[in-house]
Amino acid sequence: MSEPRQDDDRSLLLTRAKIETKVAQLAAAIDRDYAGRSPVVVGILKGAFMFLADLVRRMETPIKSVEFIRVSSYGTSTASSAQPIMLVDLSPKTVEGRDVIVIEDIVDTGLSTQVAMEHLAKLNPASLVLCSLLDKPSRRRVPVTAKYVGFTLPDKFVVGYGLDVGELDRQLPDIYTIDG
Ligand code: 5GP
Repeated sequence: MSEPRQDDDRSLLLTRAKIETKVAQLAAAIDRDYAGRSPVVVGILKGAFMFLADLVRRMETPIKSVEFIRVSSYGTSTASSAQPIMLVDLSPKTVEGRDVIVIEDIVDTGLSTQVAMEHLAKLNPASLVLCSLLDKPSRRRVPVTAKYVGFTLPDKFVVGYGLDVGELDRQLPDIYTIDG
């Protein structure tokens, strides 16, 4: 068994209560914008799994289907890899002609989100927007804009609520900054 990660380098940034309130606000905004429609929700693995689960259970909009894709990003380090690639894809039929909402945990450089958005755009959705819980605009290297953003953050590495460091800390219900 591997050793548990030391948690003394964590500082609490966003409490579960704050996250819950924000997720409810985002769900309400999506419900208003998608009244009378039935969008497809596409989560970007792995980081978005917790946010997606909480968001969709707050939404009243009937969801046509919940899909997932995976784009390689950081591996096990905190430094961004330059060339993200698609690792897990979805069936093109689930997106074609549909209103698609992409769910991200965080937009950092924008490189991996851009790969995902460009890939989905080629599958001819009726509409395509991005919803990201977290946004670090100061780190952006390519122009990626989320229609729905939960929290705008400074340039700090964060963990918890789906976000990992070397696969650890995803299960934490709150969001922390870590040193390093
Ligand atoms: P980007 O391609 O925008 O640089 O990064 C996208 C992905 O990198 C995110 O979906 C997330 O998985 C990971 N990432 C970016 N910033 C952070 C961060 O501060 N903490 C963690 N744990 N992952 C991050």
